[in-house]
Amino acid sequence: MFEKYSALATAALRDEPISQSDAEWILDGEDLSLLSLLQAAAEPRLKYFGKKVMIQVLNNVQSGRCAEDCGYCSQRKDSKVPIESYPMKAEEEILHEAEKAAKAGASRYCMVLSGRGPGLDRTRQLAGTIKRVKQEYGIEVCLSAGLIDDERAAILAEAGLDRLNHNLNTSEAHYDRICSTHSYADRIATIETAKRHGLESCSGLIVGMGECSQDIIEVAYRLRELEVPSIPANFLIPIDGNPITSDGSLTPERCLRVLCLLRLINPRAEIRAAAGREGHLRGLECLALWPANSIFVEGYLTTQGDGIAATYRKIQDAGFEVAGDVQIDLEEGTTAEASQTGAGYSLPDQEGDSILRPELRS
Ligand code: SF4
Repeated sequence: MFEKYSALATAALRDEPISQSDAEWILDGEDLSLLSLLQAAAEPRLKYFGKKVMIQVLNNVQSGRCAEDCGYCSQRKDSKVPIESYPMKAEEEILHEAEKAAKAGASRYCMVLSGRGPGLDRTRQLAGTIKRVKQEYGIEVCLSAGLIDDERAAILAEAGLDRLNHNLNTSEAHYDRICSTHSYADRIATIETAKRHGLESCSGLIVGMGECSQDIIEVAYRLRELEVPSIPANFLIPIDGNPITSDGSLTPERCLRVLCLLRLINPRAEIRAAAGREGHLRGLECLALWPANSIFVEGYLTTQGDGIAATYRKIQDAGFEVAGDVQIDLEEGTTAEASQTGAGYSLPDQEGDSILRPELRS
């Protein structure tokens, strides 16, 4: 049996795709040893990223009021979930939050806008903001703004955007069950457009939305085909009131198997343990750092998550290192409370010092 894990690691170290049957075994094999799988996934992780952990901070610069109907999202059309909706934040506010993220050691600042995609004027406005963030704080910028065509991609590339995020979310076969207002092909086209214009893409998935293992495997291979260098793995945070809440599949072990699968199919990619890591991985959370080399802090688009100090402490405790120049007092408080989340999901109940996402602090 030991040879099987060793063979998986060896294939990943050579950047060779693992077989379909191995992928199925990783997700569902009953005789699988989780610790041995984590060890195999850690080999390419350590080869390409050492023990460094990249920290990402999301800033929801425009929230709600979306005309799309993604079933997992509280910002979709006709949503009754009580989130804070607002138009695009003023540039000075975005810059201020970028500065705080840079000082807290974030290697990348991720600006997220709700909506199907930006108009041309909004794209030019974003381009101006991206230039200022990069010039004034020297931090890399990722933008998630929906569907992008050639004209918009050219504007963003000229502004120096480092990465464009657009998640595939699930497999092509499962996509119709989570969204009807745009297609899987639209999503693939945006990733390919970004690539044509020299923008790196960031694209990942959400698990726990009623998909089967084959859906997860298919999207993992699709991301490899698209040569995506950054893959966020989101674990569905069940929000009361959303059409898609929880399929009950997300045990801590299932989450770790998914992260290992992504690492072994995409060994060179940055694998990010993203939304829901806190509530779904629970006591096994630090083990996510064996396959993943990046995590998000300070919450997600409309939900709270671990604060930066609590996250840094977990990274240290697990024997990993935060990448970049950290300027934060780890003796300060930690995290914020969960809100709006549905059954089976909770965050640590600790006093908060979260400093970067004031819109999630109410
Ligand atoms: S995921 Fe994006 S496009 Fe879909 S409903 Fe939410 S904000 Fe709109």
